Amino acid sequence: MTQFENLTPEQLVQKDRENVWHHLMQHQVFQTQEPVIMVEGKGCTVKDIRGKEYLDAASGGVWCVNVGYGQDSIAEAVYEQLKQLPFYALTAGNVPAILLAEKVTSLLPGLQKVFFSNSGSEANEKAFKMSRQYFRQKYPQKDKYKILYRQRDYHGTTLAALSATGQSERKTGYGPMAPGFVGDLPPAYCYRCHYGKSYPGCNLECAHALEDIIKAEREDTVAAVILEPITAGGGVILPVSEYYGIIEEICHKYEVLLIFDEVVNGFGRTGKWFGHQHWDVDPDMITAAKGMASSYIPLSATITKQYIFEQFLSDPSDKMSYFRDISTYGGSLAAFAAGRENIRLIEEQKLCENSAAMGEVLLDGLKELESLPIVGEVRGKGLFVGVELVEDKKTKTPVSETFMGKVAAEASKQGVLFGRTNRSIPGHNNIVTIAPALVVTKDEINRMV
Ligand code: PLP
Repeated sequence: MTQFENLTPEQLVQKDRENVWHHLMQHQVFQTQEPVIMVEGKGCTVKDIRGKEYLDAASGGVWCVNVGYGQDSIAEAVYEQLKQLPFYALTAGNVPAILLAEKVTSLLPGLQKVFFSNSGSEANEKAFKMSRQYFRQKYPQKDKYKILYRQRDYHGTTLAALSATGQSERKTGYGPMAPGFVGDLPPAYCYRCHYGKSYPGCNLECAHALEDIIKAEREDTVAAVILEPITAGGGVILPVSEYYGIIEEICHKYEVLLIFDEVVNGFGRTGKWFGHQHWDVDPDMITAAKGMASSYIPLSATITKQYIFEQFLSDPSDKMSYFRDISTYGGSLAAFAAGRENIRLIEEQKLCENSAAMGEVLLDGLKELESLPIVGEVRGKGLFVGVELVEDKKTKTPVSETFMGKVAAEASKQGVLFGRTNRSIPGHNNIVTIAPALVVTKDEINRMV
């Protein structure tokens, strides 16, 4: 029997039940089921405390271990940095932050300044605060503060990030939400078109809706719109090719900042460095997290255009005009070191390329399932693919939560861990997501399919 800290698996299960409050879990299930306790990983495989191995088609459960498990050089980079200098607040500079920021901006033509923090939620909070302060300083006579968001997009768990999230069930019980967040933009979801139309005859009403919303809110009050380039947890929703061009044009027309939340999409997940790079679009800000250090250590960033940064320099006599924001652990030098090594590995191991190539194998393999009566649509980009399950192909009625539970349980029994769309959204929890680490092999893909 495997021993951990001289404890048996049974003892650990008991201690887990007694002491740990798991994320996003209804703990009732642990009355009858044992919590899975993970202990180690290599490549795309994780092992639990009972010694069972799983092929992890969810990259750490929440699509974030982009370079896969067991990349020792990241651990070594962290160790070396911790020994040399573990921490100094980012009010001062430090070498790994400088080099990581330079590297990240080289991957993002047009964007220039990197503000580091710890989580995707936090990176989005910074983006909202920057947008509001930017306009308050640029146009003191206006109050251009509203943040627009799209239905089905997720932007995080802290209250403003949650307020900007288009998944109403996530908000239930936690209100009131923060004021100034407007979520009227429909998803660019052709399979379930908000307008009951079909592409290309639809005139992309879902994109043009942004203009109506800005007008309804009054352009002088709208600061920014935040979007996931490809909606991840809300359903693997990919806008058509013209979509972001229209969005960008509307943003320019009304001077509304375009923010892309690249927390899931970023760092190779969709087959390019960043999700928005699949479109010809030039955002004012992006936010990144998960894949930035492949979650070996928490790291996130808000990355902006130079002109936004310069607004914070414009009036030296104004003692309040700098960005008055700090995140203690946004200054973790070990995280910057991990981020640098992570990017080096993505380049060296050609993981964006592998994501694109293996993504095609995955999509082709899963597309064959569309002939099954319960598979409504298979869609995705790179290594982020969703299989939408329906009870009836004509009515597109989603399969039940119970059915989804059975799918996940059966897959887990067979040793494959899938992700799925937010289980708390009634009628929207019917999409299995397959998003393995970018090191995934063809054989592993075939097994997942
Ligand atoms: N944005 C997106 C698109 C996400 O999927 C997530 C988390 O899943 C977040 C933001 C929030 O990131 P975090 O959980 O690191 O706060």
